Amino acid sequence: MPDLQQLARSIGEDKVLTDLADRLLYRYDAITSGEVPIAVVLPQTTADVAATVRFAAREGLPLYPRGAASGLSGGSVPTEEGIVISFTRMRGLRIDEVGRIAEVEPGVITLEVSEAAAVYGLYFPPDPASYKQSTIGGNLAENAGGPQCFKKGVTGDYVEAVEWVDYRGDVHTSSRRAYDLPGLLIGSEGTLGLITKAWLRLQKKPKHVRTLMAHFADVAAAARAVAAAVAQGVVAAKLEFMDNACINAVEDAFSLGLPRQAGALLLVDTDGDDLEIVEEELSLVAAACSANGGSVRRAADEAEAQRLWRARRSISPALGRINPFRMNEDIVVPRSRLAAVVSEIRDLGEAYQLPLVQFGHIGDGNLHPNILYDKNTPMKRVHELAQEIARVALRHGGVLSGEHGIGLMKRPFLEEALGSAGLRVIADAKREFDPINIFNPGKILPDNYPL
Ligand SMILES: Cc1cc2nc3c(=O)[nH]c(=O)nc-3n(C[C@H](O)[C@H](O)[C@H](O)COP(=O)(O)OP(=O)(O)OC[C@H]3O[C@@H](n4cnc5c(N)ncnc54)[C@H](O)[C@@H]3O)c2cc1C
Repeated sequence: MPDLQQLARSIGEDKVLTDLADRLLYRYDAITSGEVPIAVVLPQTTADVAATVRFAAREGLPLYPRGAASGLSGGSVPTEEGIVISFTRMRGLRIDEVGRIAEVEPGVITLEVSEAAAVYGLYFPPDPASYKQSTIGGNLAENAGGPQCFKKGVTGDYVEAVEWVDYRGDVHTSSRRAYDLPGLLIGSEGTLGLITKAWLRLQKKPKHVRTLMAHFADVAAAARAVAAAVAQGVVAAKLEFMDNACINAVEDAFSLGLPRQAGALLLVDTDGDDLEIVEEELSLVAAACSANGGSVRRAADEAEAQRLWRARRSISPALGRINPFRMNEDIVVPRSRLAAVVSEIRDLGEAYQLPLVQFGHIGDGNLHPNILYDKNTPMKRVHELAQEIARVALRHGGVLSGEHGIGLMKRPFLEEALGSAGLRVIADAKREFDPINIFNPGKILPDNYPL
C-alpha cells in the first residue's frame, strides 16, 4: 500500500485528499468517468508537483493531470489505480505590460488572463467556448481553440515558453525559440510531462468589430460563400456555421426569429484597427454570401451584433432542452468537403434515430456534430454513431479532432487515422519523454499499442 501520509507530510496535509467522497469527485470530466483515484493531490507550487512526481514514480503509481475537467475526450479521467494531480490551486498570474506577456500558472481560468490583461488594453485571443471554466493547463494540454482561431490561431500559437516537470521530477523551462519542446508538450494531453507555468503572448484589443449573419438554402451554398470570401483574402475574426437542425433547435428554445427553412446559417465578424479595412472585409463577405444565394443581414451597431451572436451563444442551452445529455463530437474536414460531410453525418443521425445537430468554426473546417440522448438511450448506439462520424471525417481527408483531443474517446481510431507508422512515432515520443509511463497512461495510444 503506498504511504500517502509520507507525501502529505512532505508537501502539506491539506494538499492530499484521500476521503472517498473527495476522490469520487475527481473521476469525471465533462463527457465520461473513470476509476476512482487512490488520492487527489492539489499542489500549490512547482516544488509540490515535482515532489508528487518523485513520490508516484517511487511507488509505481500513475499520475492523471487535471485542470477544470471541462474536457470532452476523457483526457483527465483515471484509467487505473493512481493519483489525480489537480492544478486548480496553482493560480499565479502576472502581466508584463511592456513585453505583452502573461506569466500564468496552470490553474488560472482562461478568461482570467484576458480580464487581468484588459487593464492594459490587452487580451489573450484563444477563446474556447468553455473559457469561463477551463484552465490554462488544460488549454495547453489540448491546444484549445475557439471561434477566433481562424484569424487569431489556437493556444499553442501564443506560447513563448513553458515550465514543466518531467518523469524524474526535474523542472525545466523550455522556450519555443530553440529545440521547440513546448511544441511537443502542447496538445500532448498530459501524457509527456506536467505543465507548471506558461509565458503567453497577449495582443492589443482590435478597435473595431463588424458583424453579419447570412442564411442559405443549403450547406453547399454557405461553404461556397466562405470559400469565395477566403479566396479574396478575407480573414474573418469569427466564422461560425449552424445547420438546419441547429437553427431549429435554437428557434424552438428561444424564438430569436431565425429562418427555420434555411439549410445553413453563417455568423461572421471582421475586426481590426482600421475601420475602413474592417468594413471592406465585411462587404467582401456580404458580397460572397449574396453571390451564392445567401440572405445577408449586417448588424447596424454593437447592440444588434450582440443580438445576432445570441443565436450562437444559445446553442448549448437549446440542446439541453431537447435531451439532457450530448456527445459533442469534434472533427476537422477540408472546407471544400463540408457540404458532403454535413449531409453524410445528417443521414447517419437519421439511420441511428438519434437527434443530431451540427455547428462549428467553418473558417478552419472544424465541425461539432452533437448527438443528443437521454438516460434510456443505449450508450453503445451513441458511441457507434460517434465512431461513424469520425470515419466520415477520415474518409474526406479530415482529422479526428480539432480541439477536444484524442483522450479516451478517440483512441480506437488513431491507427485508422495515422497508420501504424504514425502511431509508432507517437509511441516513440512517449517512451522518450516518459519511459516509466507515469503520465496519463491509457490515453491517446490504443490499448493494443506497445509502449
Ligand atoms: C461546454 C463546453 C464547450 C467547450 N468548447 C470548447 C471550445 O470551443 N474549444 C476547445 O478547444 N475546447 C472546448 N471544450 C473542451 C474543454 O473545455 C477544453 O479541452 C479545455 O482546454 C480543457 O481545459 P480543462 O482545464 O477543463 O482541462 P481538463 O479537462 O481538466 O484536462 C484536459 C487535458 O489536459 C491535461 N492537463 C490538464 N492540466 C494539465 C497540466 N498542468 N499539465 C499537463 N496536462 C494537463 C489533462 O490530463 C487532460 O488530458 C469545451 C468543453 C465544454 C464542456
